[in-house]
Amino acid sequence: MNMNVKQVDIIIVGAGFAGLYALYKLRLLSQHILVIESGANLGGSWYWNCYPGARCDIESIDYSYSFSKEIEQEWSWTERFASQTEILDYLNFVAEKLDLRKNIIFNTKVVSAAYNEETKRWEVGLDNDQFLTAGFCVMATGCLSSSHIPELPGSTLFKGDIYHTATWPHETISFAEKRVGVIGTGSSGVQIIPEIAQDAAQLYVFQRTPAYTIPVNNETLSSDYISWVKKNYPEIRQKAKQHFFACGLDNDDLSMEDFLPADRISELERRWQTGGVVAFFSAFNDILINNETNKFVSDFLAQKLKEIVHDPDIVEKLTPRSYPFGTKRACNAIDYWTTFNKKNVSLVDIRKAPIKAITETGLLTADGKTYELDTIVFATGFDAFTGALRQIKIKGRNNTLLENKWKAGPRTYLGLMTSEMPNMFIITGPGSPSVLSMMIAAIEQHVDLIYDFIHYMQLNGITTVEPKEDAEKAWMEHTNAIAEGTLFMQAESSWYLGSNIAGKARTFYPYAGGMPAYRKICDDVVRDNFNGFLFS
Ligand code: FAD
Repeated sequence: MNMNVKQVDIIIVGAGFAGLYALYKLRLLSQHILVIESGANLGGSWYWNCYPGARCDIESIDYSYSFSKEIEQEWSWTERFASQTEILDYLNFVAEKLDLRKNIIFNTKVVSAAYNEETKRWEVGLDNDQFLTAGFCVMATGCLSSSHIPELPGSTLFKGDIYHTATWPHETISFAEKRVGVIGTGSSGVQIIPEIAQDAAQLYVFQRTPAYTIPVNNETLSSDYISWVKKNYPEIRQKAKQHFFACGLDNDDLSMEDFLPADRISELERRWQTGGVVAFFSAFNDILINNETNKFVSDFLAQKLKEIVHDPDIVEKLTPRSYPFGTKRACNAIDYWTTFNKKNVSLVDIRKAPIKAITETGLLTADGKTYELDTIVFATGFDAFTGALRQIKIKGRNNTLLENKWKAGPRTYLGLMTSEMPNMFIITGPGSPSVLSMMIAAIEQHVDLIYDFIHYMQLNGITTVEPKEDAEKAWMEHTNAIAEGTLFMQAESSWYLGSNIAGKARTFYPYAGGMPAYRKICDDVVRDNFNGFLFS
């Protein structure tokens, strides 16, 4: 790539699912586009999170681009829930087919973006001290791309190896004969723990909050099934458009009350056997708004746990009690609970006795116990939604710094743009469905919207667009009102609420009204001459 290019029409930050589709789609409007990616290769989440056991929680047939019929026909998924490696292969296949690499600069981080009010262009600073300017800046920086490691004294003292699941090395790490500590039992912890337990001499799982987990019952996809899918993709995608989480599942849309009491358990049992969080979640449409339904589902899972895990003390520790089901991310699991029946696995409750320090040889907890370790694995998640944006010094009109504007919580219109930052789009930004949907659908919908904006502006000789402040205010009120009507706000702590990060504003970050409602709102905005946006 010619690094002397200083001026482009569009700069896209990030080369994950969002950046790659944005590149393809916006290249239809301009050839002068650059994607800047801090990683050494494309793939975003699926490039970085290459830890053992990393896998998609959504069925592979759904978790794929829908914009290209050719790609749908040429690519064949092998498993019901795809592994990280298969998803990365898929993205490389897409990039190859669409010749995307030629517009991407790797190993380069965007560190600043300042809007120049005179030139009406973004001046984008890179970590190699170069600058680019662009008429449009598209943030495809990801909701889950800024990894979080809790601050613990002594981290530089440890003589063994330390890893974070989200920055996992791209070579094989052996745990054979090692004493390993995994900190964190969210989605990544639930995936990596059974893998490490297979080889490690001793595995200590440091758990603050137990996760609700659902077995995935993963399987190889038969060629007959794949042929059927390829014939029926239009219907599958259409179904997904109507589904709350944008997955191609039957939209039964029934509340628990709609079932006879005797049939409620069998409905959950049926979905438990099917496997996967989304299928399970879709049992009753009021799980996230009705405490009684939620408790019924939690009790069902608590009973399953008792049947699977032998030691009643461990059962007690693994039973979630501090939040309703689903209000922290529920996890797909392969052999997670059974792992705690293994002799080489110990569960350490760090809510009771928090980790106090990392020592030369392991971890020290508040009750004075020491854990001797060869390897520490942080599965401690992300500074979600805003973390990657926060790492870029973004300055808009009137010298407004994004981090100041968003101090009390992000403010956006549609989760797509924020006022005083003209021509800066955020793909799956805070205030859009993002992680509460199958994210590729959310990404495609946002990229298509951005295309509509830029196309409209090109056709009409318009230079800038930004949301009106009153539209932004109304959107924030709307998104907050929807979140308040759900059980999400009852979670004592969750990354949906930003409360996993010290000092981060506590608010509900994604849009909780579901993809179909959100899509309709956006379609109406566009149809209504981009209502709520100011063009100049
Ligand atoms: P990302 O994939 O996060 O890509 C963003 C890219 O931007 C990264 O490569 C990053 O390096 C780059 N970047 C960020 N800041 C800068 C900067 N300043 N300069 C240069 N480059 C920068 N979603 C689902 O729908 N279903 C799932 O089952 C699912 N499972 C997941 C499992 C894991 C382990 C993780 C981490 C995420 C999962 N997700 C899942 C969410 C996943 O992030 C999205 O599905 C999707 O991959 C997001 O794509 P993206 O392009 O928006 O962001």
